[in-house]
Amino acid sequence: MDLSGKHALITGGGTGIGLAIAKALAEAGAEVTITGRRKDVLDEVAGGRIHAVAMDVADEASVVDGFAAAVNTRGPIAICVPNAGIAEGKALHKMDMEFWRKIIGINLDGAYLTMREAMKSMNGLNYGRVIAIASIAGIKGLKGAPAYTASKHGMIGLIRGLSEDYMASPITFNAICPGYVDTAIVSQNTVSIAARAGITEKQALKMMVKTNRHQRLITPEEVANTVMYLCSDMSGSINGQTMEIAGGQM
Ligand code: NAP
Repeated sequence: MDLSGKHALITGGGTGIGLAIAKALAEAGAEVTITGRRKDVLDEVAGGRIHAVAMDVADEASVVDGFAAAVNTRGPIAICVPNAGIAEGKALHKMDMEFWRKIIGINLDGAYLTMREAMKSMNGLNYGRVIAIASIAGIKGLKGAPAYTASKHGMIGLIRGLSEDYMASPITFNAICPGYVDTAIVSQNTVSIAARAGITEKQALKMMVKTNRHQRLITPEEVANTVMYLCSDMSGSINGQTMEIAGGQM
């Protein structure tokens, strides 16, 4: 696939799933802006066609400035991957407003700001892809994580709404819904689930792995491969969809 001449922006592109996507897009010739809060983490993986811009998706001014810097340097955004997110679980009765706002602020407000700023330069291009990294928690409830579940359902709502609003334009909007992927989120959750449920970390990891229908963790590259398909000309009529990557039906 040849994506040369196209500018892609991936939030949370310095680690995990976002980094695998950044590498695949750069390999195909795109100029790739990766964003995240930790500039040192971004700088470590930037180089060649991968460019680092520090940006906090929960901070409107930071997103506006980050997009302006990327667009001014590398041109309009043709591929936007709202991927930045945090996954923390807490039962409703233990949740306070601060926790709720943190999850919604990063995962949902962040996706909204990212898509809004991307559309400012993408609208009018003869090609455009918005590919949100949601979760299986965007299509079914995730036990013990109602705020995360709500944030990911919201992301999918946004994708579906925008696919209607920009219908018949050359821009498509889709969401990818992975099960458990082998990244820092799973290792962090292994520790926190074990502590909350009073089980060992090995048991906590086994619980997560069992949720994936094929009984293994998904690799970040498997998610990146789906992004590449959605970026290709072969997927031009796929719009407003959710694509589950969970080893089977959820
Ligand atoms: P990860 O390596 O922890 O990636 C999360 C990324 O988001 C980090 O690069 C982080 O960078 C960035 N981020 C977090 N808060 C941010 C903020 N306020 N502003 C800007 N960037 C922020 O874990 P991952 O698994 O690759 O997660 C990527 C996405 O996949 C998330 O949306 C997650 O919900 C989704 N997902 C993951 C799994 C899984 O099992 N791993 C399953 C389904 C969906 P900084 O900390 O430097 O900001």
